Amino acid sequence: MTVVGVLGAGQLGRMLALAGYPLGLRFEFFDENAEAPAGHLGGLTVAGWADRAALDAFSGAVDLVTYEFENVPVAAAERLATRVPVFPPPKALDVAQDRLKEKSLFRRLDIGTAPFATVDTRVDLDSAVAEIGLPSVLKTRTQGYDGKGQRVLRRGEDLDPAFAAIGGRPLILEGFVPFERELSIIAARSRTGETAYWPLIENVHRDGILRLSIAPASGADDALADEAAAIAARTLEALDYVGVLAIELFQHEGRLLANEMAPRVHNSGHWTIEGAKTSQFENHLRAILGLPLGATGTTGVSAMVNLIGETPDSAAVLAIDGAHLHLYGKPARPGRKLGHVTLVEPERATLESALARIASILHEPTLSR
Ligand code: AMP
Repeated sequence: MTVVGVLGAGQLGRMLALAGYPLGLRFEFFDENAEAPAGHLGGLTVAGWADRAALDAFSGAVDLVTYEFENVPVAAAERLATRVPVFPPPKALDVAQDRLKEKSLFRRLDIGTAPFATVDTRVDLDSAVAEIGLPSVLKTRTQGYDGKGQRVLRRGEDLDPAFAAIGGRPLILEGFVPFERELSIIAARSRTGETAYWPLIENVHRDGILRLSIAPASGADDALADEAAAIAARTLEALDYVGVLAIELFQHEGRLLANEMAPRVHNSGHWTIEGAKTSQFENHLRAILGLPLGATGTTGVSAMVNLIGETPDSAAVLAIDGAHLHLYGKPARPGRKLGHVTLVEPERATLESALARIASILHEPTLSR
């Protein structure tokens, strides 16, 4: 029986395991946190990422390794790669962990991005602002997620407090993009080189955290979908990528600009569990095992609502016809992703009314659009 080693044991690892059991796979997880949500779905090694003996023992217990957490130190992935196949390649992890490397790769591949400049010192910030202008967004190059480690600069007086708050480590300044909306493209590339793309996804964030994904994105014509697929195809190819890759995009003046990529299954793809013929989780496993990829067509129009900070009454959610509730088994904490609900409807109109019911249960006005 094939044993898949997963670095990170969060909800993404949990959903990978849930997709892998029907394929006869077993899972071993590696995480620093003994309470991680995937720990109940397979073996769990609890150790630090620098613990070489633990990494070596882990590699001996698995047939191949993947990750569900993008801040796994590259050195840990590289060490494992000397002993067992590791997918996606550690190089993809390296690029995705640093916003400068990521945006430089997009630029090299002729993929549009916001204008950007590197900032290491307070003086660099002045020259970057002179080059890029205001408004702009100052971000830490590494360790940023869910909107953490970033400040919007609107006026000259915003520079000092922003630098005081997040400076002292490598930063990047990006031009502020007054986007029409945020989209993402999720793609898979197998060990055999086969590729597959799900339809474009429309995403709504609040406080830097994904609240809602709608797929297929409304009003996305073939040209836009093709542009997104071409962005993903070039990135997959350049990184000799294997597995599922997500790219977050801004739609601005009819064009797509790449914001960031995630070398793993992605929150904006959770709807694929019920809303696509093959989920991102199953196709990630098929890709890394070199199996044929499954069809990525939709089974309807889907909405995925994240449950953040508190979980609603399960009975109230499940009383909504067709609502699929996913709870990750994590203790509640403000701002924490605790689960999600997916709705799949034949049409947008019925989806909107189901969404309005979810919005009232969650007391979440941003979901009523
Ligand atoms: P990120 O951590 O880069 O995904 O940023 C979190 C969120 O901040 C994004 O989903 C956008 O809503 C917003 N954001 C990030 N960068 C920019 C930008 N350059 N211009 C406008 N909004 C941005």
